[in-house]
Amino acid sequence: MTPSQPDPAPPAPAEAGGKSADSLPGVGPALRGALARLGLATLQDLWFHLPLRYEDRTRISMIRDLRVGDTAQVEGRVEAIEKGFRFRPQLRIAVADDSSATLLLRFFHFNNAQVRQLAVGARLRCYGEVRHGQHGLEMVHPQYQRVAEDAEGAVEERLTPVYPTTEGLGHKRLGGLIGRALAQLPQDDALELIPPALREANRLTSLRDALLYVHRPPPEADLTRLGLGTHPAQQRLAFEELLAQHLSLKRLRDRLRAHAAPVLRGDGRLRKRFLAALPFAPTAAQARVAAEVARDLGESVPMLRLVQGDVGSGKTVVAALAALAAVEAGRQVALMAPTELLAEQHFLNFHKWIDPLGIEVVWLAGKLKGKARSAALAGLRGSAQIAIGTHALMQEGVEFDRLGLVIIDEQHRFGVDQRLALRDKGRAGNEIPHQLVLTATPIPRTLAMTAYADLDVSIIDELPPGRTPVATVVLNGTRRGEVVERIRAACAEGRQAYWVCTVIEESEVLEAQAAEVTHAELTAALPGMRIGLVHGRMKPAAKQAAMDAFKAGEISLLVATTVIEVGVDVPNASLMVIENAERLGLAQLHQLRGRVGRGSAKSSCVLLYQAPLSAMARQRLDVLRETNDGFRIAEKDLELRGPGEVLGTRQTGEAAFRVADLARDAHLLPAIQRAGEILLREHPDLATRLIARWVGHATRFAGA
Ligand code: ADP
Ligand code: MG
Repeated sequence: MTPSQPDPAPPAPAEAGGKSADSLPGVGPALRGALARLGLATLQDLWFHLPLRYEDRTRISMIRDLRVGDTAQVEGRVEAIEKGFRFRPQLRIAVADDSSATLLLRFFHFNNAQVRQLAVGARLRCYGEVRHGQHGLEMVHPQYQRVAEDAEGAVEERLTPVYPTTEGLGHKRLGGLIGRALAQLPQDDALELIPPALREANRLTSLRDALLYVHRPPPEADLTRLGLGTHPAQQRLAFEELLAQHLSLKRLRDRLRAHAAPVLRGDGRLRKRFLAALPFAPTAAQARVAAEVARDLGESVPMLRLVQGDVGSGKTVVAALAALAAVEAGRQVALMAPTELLAEQHFLNFHKWIDPLGIEVVWLAGKLKGKARSAALAGLRGSAQIAIGTHALMQEGVEFDRLGLVIIDEQHRFGVDQRLALRDKGRAGNEIPHQLVLTATPIPRTLAMTAYADLDVSIIDELPPGRTPVATVVLNGTRRGEVVERIRAACAEGRQAYWVCTVIEESEVLEAQAAEVTHAELTAALPGMRIGLVHGRMKPAAKQAAMDAFKAGEISLLVATTVIEVGVDVPNASLMVIENAERLGLAQLHQLRGRVGRGSAKSSCVLLYQAPLSAMARQRLDVLRETNDGFRIAEKDLELRGPGEVLGTRQTGEAAFRVADLARDAHLLPAIQRAGEILLREHPDLATRLIARWVGHATRFAGA
């Protein structure tokens, strides 16, 4: 587009990229649904849906030449098939090729149709990671396909991109769609939002070239750098995304400061009574952070403060003090938690602490229906002083009378929009409520400056006295029997334990199934012991009953899913077993482990893993064994976390980037800050479009 071009202008980049994915041939309602699950609605979304990794299927390796750790493609004949059931179902297939070496394929999940298809003598092409097995080299769960007898040994001509995908949408199909979307990628001038001078200064290629390269790398591409995400084409995209994020946070903050907020000074009357009745004295760190919050609340500029504190550091007390300051000043408070279980715990705590002060606390969750819901809603529009609940609080139809403070617990579980949606319930003209967000997920300092550039940060850097560090051991899952024995012994002494079940995918249904199976197994293995179950698919009442029974000591062992990750507080529980610990992120494991070590008893945590464990996974689990310090764990995690670790997104909170990885790309930040200043000063329109492209619709921030 040349600047002198008269109207009507050719399609602006936003329009080309903003075209719906439906416009591609073959996209019907079912496919649209699958795309939506991946967050892909427009052509531009497809352009920016980058490969998770690449596979080199441009050649076939000889089995003889394979080495442990290689990811390779081989082709050979099935020599033997064996179905075994030693500890769990297993299918083993021996494959030999012309190099007359043999490779073992092992499957733990398989069906009969699959077995029938695999006769001795069949020709298979397999792709996977080579590992060291009991009987020589093996691949566990390789991808494979049968090759017809007369097939030519054709191989791929380019590196094969592997895209993040979802149920009902295969790799091939998604790859095809992305290819068709890329065919509509506009030429450079219509696509580029970073001005030439800034591109040159930062040695950035054009966006178009970068996108085409990462989606279709030539065979000679540097697969190692592509795999690490450090290839210049990927770095070009990461730069733009981080720049957009940085700009949006700067805008957000400027806009926030332009608003007014109610001055919530209060007279300290309620806070004094609350503290007097509390069975413990706040730690120095709690007192300091509470004072920082109180100071902000007393200003007519909206507060947006993040309180970081390790698991168990007592963030709830700080939240309660802030809430009371608002109530003293005649305003309402909304406290939102990410899970029903956690919201319930808060509700019960606040009840216990705050009821005696004559304050009206209202409970609101999605499952609250009928009269109870109407009563709660009426309360919020009238006399209620504190509202506690889940996402339900920010939904339509919920109205407050005089909301002055919004508290978001475990904010890494919420998106920015959700926080803003709740905040906007208290908007009146130019005035908005204060916001306090709590998190146990520590963000290392350098990263905090980008990811949370729009927040002020307070840190509770001290645990309440009398906590004993949790002794952590890492054990092979084959030693499950011993662990069960240990639980029997511990519970016989009156101790209580958690048994946490995990699954690979983040799926509430699968998690629930895993927990039910484990509950049945442990019930059989531990006759006479009272074993409870709690998972996300249970009715709230059943969940609460299980929690109550555990809290009251009527249940010795609680089998649970990761729903207990946040907020569950049962001080007598001193033993935790986490199955398949290698599947979870370090921050999540640390959170889970924080459920024990809350009382005075010596606590321990057993991390069970499923062998074989990669060197990286081993190192990660060792970090937990070595330290109980959430900040050190977060730092180590970033250091260790390779780009292949998909599970990591939750650990950096809101910063769910499409391309960038804060740990990997932190070296770009100084340049991004400089570029951001220039852009805002000289090309504010481009800044706006960059934000819209990467961070979401500009309107989302317009009201910030
Ligand atoms: P988190 O920061 O993980 O949200 P909580 O607020 O749930 O931590 O507090 C964990 C436990 O510590 C709770 O049982 C709480 O009552 C207790 N607690 C909080 N502050 C103190 C303190 N200053 N002294 C003793 N116990 C405390
Ligand atoms: Mg908490």
